[in-house]
Amino acid sequence: MPKNSKGREIAEIIPDKCIGCQLCIGECPVKGAMRMEGGVAIIDPDKCVGCGKCVDVCPANSILFEKVRKKKVEAEKGPQPIDEYRGVAVFIEVHQGKGADVAWELVGKARELAAKLDTQVIGLLLGKGIEPIAKEAIAYGCDIVYMMDNPVLEIYLSKVYGKALTSLCQQVKPAIVLLGATPLGRDLASIAATYLKTGLTADCTGLDIDDEEKLLLMTRPTFGGNIMATILCRNYRPQMSTVRPRVMKMPKKDPERRGEIRLLDFQPPRDELPRVLEFIPRKLELGGVDITKASVLVVVGRGACNSRHLPMLEELAHLLGGAVGCSRAVVESGLLPYMRQVGQTGKTVAPKLYIGVGVSGAVQHLVGMQTSERIIAINTDRHAPMVQIADYALIGDYLQVVPELIKGLEARIKERVRQG
Ligand SMILES: Cc1cc2nc3c(=O)[nH]c(=O)nc-3n(C[C@H](O)[C@H](O)[C@H](O)COP(=O)(O)OP(=O)(O)OC[C@H]3O[C@@H](n4cnc5c(N)ncnc54)[C@H](O)[C@@H]3O)c2cc1C
Repeated sequence: MPKNSKGREIAEIIPDKCIGCQLCIGECPVKGAMRMEGGVAIIDPDKCVGCGKCVDVCPANSILFEKVRKKKVEAEKGPQPIDEYRGVAVFIEVHQGKGADVAWELVGKARELAAKLDTQVIGLLLGKGIEPIAKEAIAYGCDIVYMMDNPVLEIYLSKVYGKALTSLCQQVKPAIVLLGATPLGRDLASIAATYLKTGLTADCTGLDIDDEEKLLLMTRPTFGGNIMATILCRNYRPQMSTVRPRVMKMPKKDPERRGEIRLLDFQPPRDELPRVLEFIPRKLELGGVDITKASVLVVVGRGACNSRHLPMLEELAHLLGGAVGCSRAVVESGLLPYMRQVGQTGKTVAPKLYIGVGVSGAVQHLVGMQTSERIIAINTDRHAPMVQIADYALIGDYLQVVPELIKGLEARIKERVRQG
């Protein structure tokens, strides 16, 4: 097999066989690597990249090229019999002795998925003294809760929890495992997925079941949030996904609901465990303002990004008993800090009332607020995406609209006070 001066294997023309059709020249991707001379194709060895395309099109078999072509990789088959995996499981994250809200939100979603699969909702719970949380998980919608209750699990240690959740999944064999995309959930999901040798789709904004194959459809923003991708985990189990807090709706709690709680044995890893010296509680940023907890959110966009008029928007939020959030454009301008940012790279919020003031509604913003109960858009552009998804749209300059709203609210409050 001839090689060029760079040591690359190249094609070779058999001049006596060449019929001068020039198909090879048309197919060659490198300009000047092939030419005709005396009615016969010629290869310039130093330009040839050894792709073999000329060989494929030659009708006269006049080109020699024996380079071994790369084999197409077949989709791998998972090691486990997939049919053994049943049920939709939720990892019940525990925060300061209580079930985290995101776990209950996921139990609500799991109920919908389980109904489509005609299967059970399973709670997976780790910790110390956690039986009351297992009961709560049933009240929120779990049919059965598997728990490992052990002093070693009192605080979160990646390796210990990783092994424990892996062991739970290996024993229970759920088809689907959902975790909150919290700092703990993100860490744990990746460890468990690695031990379980399965796939993981992080930060999903939508979960559904495919009607035909009964696979979990995991939808999340990709390419900088410009498109939504739906990802499948066809050949491995469990199908794992993380979802950020407040993306799914909180289900109603029913203390009368009945279910089963099973305690499984936990074998702590044999290696030496780290010793926790002290916990330093997380400080609440922004003087106690947590936009994810506000029931009313007035969100400032670039169209209202002005330090002189910010107090007016704060007043509107105050009159409604809410807080002020913002779009990324406003954070970038320096007017408000990152902790107030709503969206894909900020916080996910689902207030009872979201008021977007001068927010266009870019997809990266919408994924962080679209589950809000009521959406009001204040915008000069009636075609802005935020206006399109809003329940109510006030088309106009916010400098005219917001003072009118404030006036109306103040009048109502005065009237209520007068009526006692
Ligand atoms: C990877 C990536 C992640 C991102 N993450 C986020 C994120 O987490 N959160 C986020 O918000 N963005 C995010 N973005 C940015 C996002 O794409 C948009 O650029 C941003 O949301 C735009 O902010 P805006 O709506 O405030 O501004 P603009 O898009 O500029 O919209 C301003 C709006 O104000 C209206 N307006 C103008 N003047 C007035 C007026 N006087 N009265 C009323 N309305 C007026 C305009 O009609 C317009 O609709 C991200 C982008 C990328 C690439």
